Amino acid sequence: MNDPKSWLRKNPQVRTIRVAASDLNGQPRGKRVPARFADKVVEDGTRFPLSVLNLDIWGEDIDESPLVFETGDRDGVLYPTERGFVPMPWLEAPTALLPIWMYREDGRPFDGDPRHALSAVLKRYRKLGLTPVVAIELEFFLIDDSGKSLQVPLSPRSQKRRKAAEVMSIRALDAFDIFFTDLYDACEDMDIPADTAISEAGLGQFELNLMHQPDALRAADDAWFFKMLVRGLARRHGFAASFMAKPYEDYPGSGMHVHFSVLDEDGNNIFDDGGPKGTDKMRHAVGGLMDAMHDSTLIFAPHGNSYDRLVPENHAPCGISWAYENRTSAIRIPGGSPKGRRIEHRVAGGDVNPYLLLATLLGAALNGIEDGTEPPAPITGNAYAQDLPLIPGSWEKAMDAFEASEVMPRILPEGLIRNLLLTKRQELHFMSELSPQEQVEIYLDT
Ligand code: GLU
Ligand code: MG
Ligand code: MG
Repeated sequence: MNDPKSWLRKNPQVRTIRVAASDLNGQPRGKRVPARFADKVVEDGTRFPLSVLNLDIWGEDIDESPLVFETGDRDGVLYPTERGFVPMPWLEAPTALLPIWMYREDGRPFDGDPRHALSAVLKRYRKLGLTPVVAIELEFFLIDDSGKSLQVPLSPRSQKRRKAAEVMSIRALDAFDIFFTDLYDACEDMDIPADTAISEAGLGQFELNLMHQPDALRAADDAWFFKMLVRGLARRHGFAASFMAKPYEDYPGSGMHVHFSVLDEDGNNIFDDGGPKGTDKMRHAVGGLMDAMHDSTLIFAPHGNSYDRLVPENHAPCGISWAYENRTSAIRIPGGSPKGRRIEHRVAGGDVNPYLLLATLLGAALNGIEDGTEPPAPITGNAYAQDLPLIPGSWEKAMDAFEASEVMPRILPEGLIRNLLLTKRQELHFMSELSPQEQVEIYLDT
């Protein structure tokens, strides 16, 4: 843990802190506190109504929500996480973020806290002497104020093949080199392990991969910080950034893929069988992921727009399948050295809450390992051309599946499941009264 008090003394230029947590949609919410009062926050925590973190403020009917009035909308207590302070280099004034855990007044963890949900899943791993190792890949669009994606001048060839026009284009990376230089510097300041970046298939779409790490809470924090950073830094550069799952019909959407393996107590990868196939345990983890995939789609695709991304021929999945070295499948086992044998889960969009994403997929994989779940045979070839069981095709169907699920309560706290459903149904009601264009404008900011 970085000791928050000594960190502040070593960084006297920081005059303001943001005490914040992730709400159910992954949006940061909290307070601005003068740095001179930070010691008090570190020791005593801070207080605000927990409903703020479990409700989205989408509509006026917030006042009618049982979440608020059932409890009299009382305060919870929020304490700093083990991450301590994290600089916010995209802000003009030197500022640091203090991420917080959510507790009830009586000292119990608030079960609507997405970070607590992930922590509970990791406890299950620890009990078995296991440690997941996780790497997250984040795709996003750089956009202008009118919501259009930023585009390098198009070659005639790109204009014809718009869908994959700039995939891995060095030209597109070069066009935004000053932004990426600042982005990597900021990641270093914030201790976010940024690995490679590429230009993605959509014009103005990029992907940056974070390094594998044996601390999934940290990996989720990093992804959450990274989304704030990219949006904030883009603003400083005079444009904007969006992690919306499918902002443009003409281009593929933005995903948030997760690669993971699992270490035993001796630090050996339990998916490594010395060859290309992977172990029984890897297959069982895949079985657990596939068993939970239909019911957990609401987590991976949390907004109405998320379902526009999950369409054929866009490198995003529609069917429930696994496969070796196959990007048309929801679950892909990448090739390469057996030591690095791992699972790539490709369902989530860029709009996902990173804590709930890791809690859900690591929880589902562990169910499979515990139960020895056998998945169906891996597919080969084009998944879009095959008759596969489908993930829910719409937001409403995903909500129904999530609500009726027998597997989700084994993965996520019941309070969180209930609050998420209330929040999502409220968001659906609010969104259904808006035009498609108004919806895009709101979701571009997610
Ligand atoms: N953009 C694709 C998605 O929506 C993924 C492309 C890739 O394979 O990296 O998930
Ligand atoms: Mg990609
Ligand atoms: Mg990937």
